[in-house]
Amino acid sequence: MIYLNGKFMPIEEAFIPVLDRGFIFGDGVYEVIPVYSRKPFRLTEHLMRLQHSLDGIRLKNPFSNEEWRNILEQVITNNDGEDQYIYLHITRGVAKRDHAFPANVPPTVFIMSNPLLQPSEELLKNGASAVTANDNRWVRCDVKAISLLPNILLRQLAVDVQALETILIRNGFLTEGSASNIFIVKNKMLLAPPKSNLMLPGITYDVVLELAAANQIPHEIREIYETEIRIADEILLTSSTKEIMPITLLDNKPVGDGKPGEFFRQLHALYQEYKTTHMRGHTTARLTS
Ligand code: PMP
Repeated sequence: MIYLNGKFMPIEEAFIPVLDRGFIFGDGVYEVIPVYSRKPFRLTEHLMRLQHSLDGIRLKNPFSNEEWRNILEQVITNNDGEDQYIYLHITRGVAKRDHAFPANVPPTVFIMSNPLLQPSEELLKNGASAVTANDNRWVRCDVKAISLLPNILLRQLAVDVQALETILIRNGFLTEGSASNIFIVKNKMLLAPPKSNLMLPGITYDVVLELAAANQIPHEIREIYETEIRIADEILLTSSTKEIMPITLLDNKPVGDGKPGEFFRQLHALYQEYKTTHMRGHTTARLTS
């Protein structure tokens, strides 16, 4: 059952007019929120990022956080699976085609939820492969915009060679993946690129850095040169649906010794433990959910 503009319905019965600005211009923003044991994970943070994206495209938030919580609770109840991922999408509504914003047009709000599957044991044991490419997206990558054409083309570069992700380099520096954030490990230090307009502020990225801080894992947030990615001991990928994954092959060359490393193992275990406390509802004050 999906949610569309205030109503729940089977997805087959959901339609939007062809003049929806999401369809015509890609004029909208979205969020993807993981749900564990029917509880949305880090919901406050996802709703804050949604507000940031809406502000970035000058679209008024149609709901208060309390209203979002109520709607999302109904979406979760109306769908199967203890673990789900919610896709939430807001566009600037339906109007005669014109680039300028329409006046007094209600936004389109669409929400669906699908079962959330854990990354395969095989991938966690052996790691995944990635390729690198020039980051040719716009310079508001901090806005989670539905217009994803550059991300789609970049991701396909990986799919074309049976790799999992494309790691993006802008002006000689690591930004992120086409649909993930990227960390590297060098000389027993976890390195993360700083948040800026050139990357999406990942919710999982924040959890990983909080877990590193709370567990005395040496880490630093700083610009990462392309050359450093190529000599990294480990590369880690994070996203809400993939959690933490090791990248063990980059542009067809092994990363470090070609196996998932110690930082991956430790952070992956801490992430699973953190999820369990979230599910039981006992997250600590420092690691709030
Ligand atoms: N960067 C991009 C471009 C993404 O699409 C995603 C996944 N939504 C991420 C980073 C990871 O963000 P999160 O941890 O919030 O899923």
